Amino acid sequence: MALCLWEKNHPMPETLTCCQESCFANRLQSEGASLLRGEIRTVQLNLGRLCNQVCRHCHMQAGPTRTEVMDMNVMRHALEVVRLESVTTVDLTGGAPEMNPHFRWLVAQIKAAGRRILVRTNLTVLLEPGFEDLPAFFANHGVEVISSLPCYTEGNVDAQRGNGVFKRSIEALRRLNANSYGRQGSGLSLTLVYNPGGPSLPGPQAALEADYKAQLLQNYGIVFDRLLTITNTPIGRFAEDLQHMNKLDSYRKLLDLSFNPATLANVMCREMLNVAWDGTLYDCDFNQALGRPIGGDTPLKLGALPVWETAKRLRQRQVVIGDHCFSCTAGAGSSCQGALQS
Ligand code: SF4
Ligand code: SF4
Repeated sequence: MALCLWEKNHPMPETLTCCQESCFANRLQSEGASLLRGEIRTVQLNLGRLCNQVCRHCHMQAGPTRTEVMDMNVMRHALEVVRLESVTTVDLTGGAPEMNPHFRWLVAQIKAAGRRILVRTNLTVLLEPGFEDLPAFFANHGVEVISSLPCYTEGNVDAQRGNGVFKRSIEALRRLNANSYGRQGSGLSLTLVYNPGGPSLPGPQAALEADYKAQLLQNYGIVFDRLLTITNTPIGRFAEDLQHMNKLDSYRKLLDLSFNPATLANVMCREMLNVAWDGTLYDCDFNQALGRPIGGDTPLKLGALPVWETAKRLRQRQVVIGDHCFSCTAGAGSSCQGALQS
């Protein structure tokens, strides 16, 4: 069942007709398109809302006082999904996923299962007491590091992520480089993530990557492999911030006007399964943040069914959509793997 999230927060009729023109469900219908899930290729595990930062744009409203963290029971069920034949990649996110007390155990289990492991780090956590060995731990386990750095200038990063975050991020990147991350031929992949500081779409990914590479090398001696651009979704703290600046409606309008139907074929929810800290299943992290689980009023949870039955139920199922989906389909498109079109 499609849901109108921005204006009315009510279930949409089966026909997908709508009370407003700028509605994602309407837009899909006019394109003759639908979002259907395929096989699960990527399992994204959100290990909890605990984080050492409190960023202005955080869609998860994460922070140091949040207590929701995935326990080992949920992790064991999640590992059954990870071992499904179709799954190639496990994407660990949060919060700061490293702050989950079972993080290292989980990484070791995923490595033993032979899956590609991505860790989304905020960088500054790598400098916190008790976490300093993580770059070496990542390298020993072949983890691919994906790290947020929304600009190569101190002012922009600190404005979005907090005072002092840029300097600490640079230090963390140096430590990752010292452990061979981002070095040619090392096989240890270091990816940076850019998202705009305000209500605009990201620029072209390739051009920004070239700028980042030149600036970070020249000013700080830092190397990395690739840059991903991600469009901010107007939910959570970012929506509150825009509302405060009276820019929420104009940003939604921008996303709507920038709708690009060519991105629909590649949106991440087609092949990704998102698992919340409590084992509830979602089509993506944004749906998780909005409390829109797979199964609606009877949410599908890990452990409730045999894993093969869960996978079967998900196959060819309609994704739970809402107007926040405009952020994945605007311009060049956006996903956890960056732009959807070059
Ligand atoms: S955006 Fe990332 S680093 Fe910032 S508060 Fe949210 S989870 Fe933490
Ligand atoms: S927000 Fe993006 S990933 Fe999530 S359901 Fe919508 S289109 Fe799919």
